[in-house]
Amino acid sequence: MQTVKIACAQKSYDVLIGSGLLKNAGEILRDYFPPCSAVLVTDDNVNALYGETVEFSLTCSGFNVCKFVFKNGEHAKNLSVFTKLLEFMAHNALTRSDMVIALGGGVTGDLAGFAASSYMRGIRFVQMPTTLLAAVDSSVGGKTGVNLDAGKNLAGAFWQPSLVVCDCETLNTLRDEVLADGIAEVIKYGMIKDRALFERLETGKCLNEMEACITRCVEIKGDVVEKDEFDNGERQLLNFGHTLAHAIEKLSGYELSHGHAVAVGMVMVTRAAESMNLTKEICLGRLIQTLNKYALHVKCPYELSDLTNAALGDKKRAGSVINLIIPLKIGEAGILKLPVTELESFIECGLHRED
Ligand code: NAD
Repeated sequence: MQTVKIACAQKSYDVLIGSGLLKNAGEILRDYFPPCSAVLVTDDNVNALYGETVEFSLTCSGFNVCKFVFKNGEHAKNLSVFTKLLEFMAHNALTRSDMVIALGGGVTGDLAGFAASSYMRGIRFVQMPTTLLAAVDSSVGGKTGVNLDAGKNLAGAFWQPSLVVCDCETLNTLRDEVLADGIAEVIKYGMIKDRALFERLETGKCLNEMEACITRCVEIKGDVVEKDEFDNGERQLLNFGHTLAHAIEKLSGYELSHGHAVAVGMVMVTRAAESMNLTKEICLGRLIQTLNKYALHVKCPYELSDLTNAALGDKKRAGSVINLIIPLKIGEAGILKLPVTELESFIECGLHRED
């Protein structure tokens, strides 16, 4: 088992990465916290696969568990399910010394984390990621939230977990396209921060060394988050591809999943940056080849005006400027502060489909 330590101003915590951790969840948590009541938040798919194992282990270790199960999918990440979860916590008389446990993917983590951040102005929160995307990205760093009708993640809070328990064995039951969602984020880390990681992805070796791959991504994310917990500077690099991805997800009515949309977003931003001579190295071809290798989307099915309108609602917009992350070369990225008046022509450069 690997342990990555994350030291944020709000909270310092361990990320445990290994195999077979869920069946020992109770013992693991007892090493960190006294027995208490715990709301186990999970979706119906994950509940059927791992809910009982975790609940049993926690109960055996003295935790008083109540389980909140919701229907899986991005559509559940909304204010209505959020409210139901808060009411469920109140109904089960959770106090400030109790905790919320998110068992599942990024949807579960974002929803449960936001509830933990707001219930009684904040109670303890543990992440148990079961998708690759949640393991390498959403379970670490404390961004929580839900979607509004107007756009992705528009209501939320920074609320760091107190512990992350990542059981790599859970990845064995993922559907291929859900695994690919996570690979898109791993490719993102390679593109923005770690050329060697990108090169391992190019060879396809990462899939056989998941524990090491997740550990490396968590180290990168932890390092970035420690320097810029509240997303005012370097942390924005993690948004590579995300402004356009959020626009694409919204236009698809959230039918296209996050990682697949990130893949398209990375391609478009890279193409635009290269065509505007903003990069130090040409990397679009290698990026597309690597995304193709993992069956990720690389083509955008939407029109320029729809994309521009949807992207203008993104959180990365600050007044008349929007911060876009562009690759400088493989393993290095930068922030482009683009006047919103130029966003449409930037997206147009990203849409050209000759490759
Ligand atoms: P998800 O949570 O919806 O999970 C995808 C699907 O996989 C679901 O149907 C789920 O039931 C199923 N599943 C989960 N674990 C499984 C397992 N082990 N075996 C079989 N099926 C399993 O989606 P996701 O891709 O994990 O996360 C996407 C969400 O994460 C988006 O809402 C995105 O905005 C958010 N996100 C948040 C951050 C952050 O920093 N907070 C970062 C990146 C993404």
